Amino acid sequence: MIKKVLIANRGEIALRIHRACHEMGIETVAVHSTADADAMHVRLANDSVCIGPPASVDSYLNIPAIISAAEITGADAIHPGYGFLSENAHFAEIVADHGLTFIGPTADHIRTMGDKITAKETVKKLGIPVVPGSAGGITDDVTAKKVCAEIGYPVIIKASAGGGGRGMQIVQNADELSVKLQTCRTEAKASFGDDAVYIEKFLLKPRHIEFQIIGDNHGNCIHLGERDCSLQRRHQKILEEAPSPVINDETRARVGGIVAKAMADLGYSGAGTIEFLYEDGEFYFIEMNTRLQVEHPVTEMITGIDIVREQIRVAAGEKLSYTQDMVRFFGHAIECRVNAEHPFTFVPSPGNVTQYHVPGGLNVRCDSAVYAGYKIPPYYDSMVAKLIVSGYTREGCLLRLRRSLAEYVIDGITTTIPLHQALMDNEDFQAGDYDIHWLEKFLKDKTE
Ligand code: ADP
Repeated sequence: MIKKVLIANRGEIALRIHRACHEMGIETVAVHSTADADAMHVRLANDSVCIGPPASVDSYLNIPAIISAAEITGADAIHPGYGFLSENAHFAEIVADHGLTFIGPTADHIRTMGDKITAKETVKKLGIPVVPGSAGGITDDVTAKKVCAEIGYPVIIKASAGGGGRGMQIVQNADELSVKLQTCRTEAKASFGDDAVYIEKFLLKPRHIEFQIIGDNHGNCIHLGERDCSLQRRHQKILEEAPSPVINDETRARVGGIVAKAMADLGYSGAGTIEFLYEDGEFYFIEMNTRLQVEHPVTEMITGIDIVREQIRVAAGEKLSYTQDMVRFFGHAIECRVNAEHPFTFVPSPGNVTQYHVPGGLNVRCDSAVYAGYKIPPYYDSMVAKLIVSGYTREGCLLRLRRSLAEYVIDGITTTIPLHQALMDNEDFQAGDYDIHWLEKFLKDKTE
């Protein structure tokens, strides 16, 4: 079994991984930039190593420094968390080459799913329905026009190597196609170092529904149900819930069964998320994430399964602790992402947290590395906490969330808590009646 895990990440997720490790009797190593010397994960880990200056390229993305830190501290495994190096196949290979265990899927699986064109082709062959679109990459106007005429406008052009909601262009009609195709390719090259793009039908009122799966190296793969992540701003998730208000038990079992079987057939090991758009009762695959997701806690809250623990177990070569029959879903859970940003304009607000009080009580979980006196550095992602609550029913969950948001004190900076409070008071949200475009309209009304 693994004895010491280096956590190649920061913030709340570094702490989340640390907690799972310590519950399993595994020691941890924190790595950090100079800007994070006072971070909570650094304070709590058994060992810590400074790996470079604030810029991520010099620290959290600095592969030689991370590998050296593992060697110096005697770590035998590396957990990459999310973001940073978590979906970097090259990193997974280097970790293995140094005799260390990468807590995640194989480099081959990361590579296959990291290229969205290949990912779509792969899952389609495994029986998962995909969004109608081009059969592969698109490089010229003539082919693009042909594809769009077949699927119908509007369409969305997406970077094959894209991520984080970036590298997408929506095209309303044929007149816009050529310019937007060129823009998307140029941006894809600049942002991701790869100008491969593909075209999909742009769905007008879908929900974003994703399935959590986890596989081991013994041919087993189970699903842990779905999460509804339709509340998005600029294609980035703001609030997530499980189960989806529009999915029933029969659909969950059917679609979950399809994805778990597909991933077992692929020989996938580790945690993964199959993301779908869901419209008019149909599921359309958009991408797979081969890592732990920010929103994994809502699944943990309704299943009672520690996903990080399972990741560590399967990486160590053990069997999953659960068979599909053992997975039970109970109640409802919602996660609010708390960002150090203005609640409606999203202008960043890093700085000193002068007072800090976390809500508590039954079924309230707060994943955060913030403490009173902590200085939020301006260099990284603006998410500073995740408030997750569960309840017997969705209604009860909303009441608990409203109460918890009111209790949450983060003084000294501006946060998105008032946005979540406004959502709790909204009738559409209360009714679970929203799609992926709903939040943008809601925010437009708030800021106009
Ligand atoms: P990323 O890897 O950048 O997160 P995704 O492919 O997962 O990109 O898409 C992110 C979001 O963009 C989706 O959740 C959805 O809101 C929107 N989106 C992507 N593809 C489509 C599509 N074909 N139609 C409508 N919206 C889409």
